[in-house]
Amino acid sequence: RGFVPFGLSEEINRALTVLKYETPTEVQTKVIPSVLEGNDLVVKSQTGSGKTAAFAIPICDQIAWEEKKPQALILTPTRELAVQVREDVTNIGRFKRIKALAVYGKEPFAKQKEELKQKTHVVVGTPGRVMDHIERGTLQLDEIKYLVIDEADEMLNMGFIEEVEAIIEKIPTTRITMVFSATLPKSVETLCHQYMNNPINIEI
Ligand code: AMP
Repeated sequence: RGFVPFGLSEEINRALTVLKYETPTEVQTKVIPSVLEGNDLVVKSQTGSGKTAAFAIPICDQIAWEEKKPQALILTPTRELAVQVREDVTNIGRFKRIKALAVYGKEPFAKQKEELKQKTHVVVGTPGRVMDHIERGTLQLDEIKYLVIDEADEMLNMGFIEEVEAIIEKIPTTRITMVFSATLPKSVETLCHQYMNNPINIEI
């Protein structure tokens, strides 16, 4: 039965077939239907569990192609992870022609600024550079409907708490928020408590 019971759009199911994702992983089985129902989620799961596709699949499914402003913002602790997540989103969204962009430090701001002027459905980035784009008016947040904090424990360990909080506070509260973390220290729980709406806890 694979991914069929989730009732995803035909374009997404076709992409999963091409990627040879035949059976959802445990985190995907729990996360995908819950996001589609509109829940906020706190997910304790490791890298390798299929967590990226767990959030990328429902987000890509729900993206409205016509909308010009970004609809999903995914924060990652490192440039490497941002690039990887961007690639996964692009692959899953390929038949919907979903445009995903990675923004991170150490790459010229101006190049990213130009790219952000084009239609971009999903922005993946590290907190410092994302904050730069917000402050300089090159990243618009008013159409954001999905916010993902990936590897939240790592992000806070790296000292990004202030940027992460400042970014969250600028995103419309009508969004769906997902926090993924390998561990759930007090700092991550405090963040979730502050910025999420009755989140469902999923532990893999
Ligand atoms: P992640 O936990 O997101 O780093 O994913 C780990 C690896 O599993 C990645 O290489 C994915 O491409 C792969 N993957 C994710 N979901 C599935 C699936 N349902 N079936 C097969 N491979 C998958």
